[in-house]
Amino acid sequence: MAKALYVHIPFCEAICTYCDFPKMVAPAAFKTAYVDALKAEIAATRDDLAEVDTVYLGGGTPSSLSHDLLSDLLDFIASQLNVTRLREMTIEANPNDVTYEFVRLIKAKGVTRLSIGVQSGQPHLLKLLGRTHAKEDVERAMKAVHDAHFYNVNLDFIYALPTETIADLEADLAWAVALKPLHLSFYSLILEPKTILFHDWKEGRLPLLDEELEATMFETVNRVLPPAGYHRYEVSNFAIVGFESKHNLHYWDAHDYLGVGMGAHSLLGNTRFHNHPTLSKYLAAVKKTGFGGRLADPCDPFREACVMGLRKVSGIDLADLWVRFGIDPLLRYPRLRDNERDGLVTIDHASIRLTEKGLILLNYVERSFT
Ligand code: SF4
Repeated sequence: MAKALYVHIPFCEAICTYCDFPKMVAPAAFKTAYVDALKAEIAATRDDLAEVDTVYLGGGTPSSLSHDLLSDLLDFIASQLNVTRLREMTIEANPNDVTYEFVRLIKAKGVTRLSIGVQSGQPHLLKLLGRTHAKEDVERAMKAVHDAHFYNVNLDFIYALPTETIADLEADLAWAVALKPLHLSFYSLILEPKTILFHDWKEGRLPLLDEELEATMFETVNRVLPPAGYHRYEVSNFAIVGFESKHNLHYWDAHDYLGVGMGAHSLLGNTRFHNHPTLSKYLAAVKKTGFGGRLADPCDPFREACVMGLRKVSGIDLADLWVRFGIDPLLRYPRLRDNERDGLVTIDHASIRLTEKGLILLNYVERSFT
């Protein structure tokens, strides 16, 4: 049974240079047809939704839907769930879309958490990323949010960008804290194939940061945010205590979740699958079967639970893994003992956790799970 429902809205105002999510720029008529298909897919999966306690509308840019369409979709989602179970409903938004009216609407429809894609406040970095907003738009959005008495807000940032300096990052960190969100995500850039930035790098037009500077930036994030009241609970995620993302914790705990929409992924009963990543195929599949594709992916659920669990500061919960899989990770992955000797992980009777050094070398530690 799924614990979490992810609803993918693929529409964007413009395409960012680093983005490899399923997304598109589309006219209004496409959006209406898409929301109709989403509703059909959610209805078809209703039997799997009885235990859902978190919902996440992500993208793409969910806030790019018209208020009428968004209102219709949120009403429909609520009608298909046991809303008394719901602990969190998040919607992602572009700063330009966050108006007082938008916040009042989502609040009235039961949304409890807003995640705004900020990425940076530095004009040259926003330009590099292809973002369409400016620093002032984020400040205006946060004012609208607080004017509407809505406080459970996450701001997403990216750092370790080409040409970024420590001074840029420190300015972003100070600004982020001053905006008073209850949650902050600071992700270091991952250069994904098939993105504009990747192409520019391949063509030799874009130098990447060296690893030492990237490691210093990681330490800078961890030096600034905890004293400002944001405790780190996952490699890239920080929150005021009690405002951690319940939905994302389902992913990191490798709980079952259902994803609906173009290109959305799911994990159900140790089976992974994804929907068609193109709009025409997605719409055709929903019309024909009620589902958006359900294309099977290879999956080793025990390995996934270990890799995802290690991302949390609390680490891999050994008792939970034993109850669910009957497997001891130290027997399956003996290289974890080498990581312990190298000071990368701490192992005790209850958990396996990354050390500060292991957090920086997470990619290396993950190679132990092979
Ligand atoms: S990063 Fe977000 S807003 Fe930018 S293209 Fe990707 S999904 Fe759209």
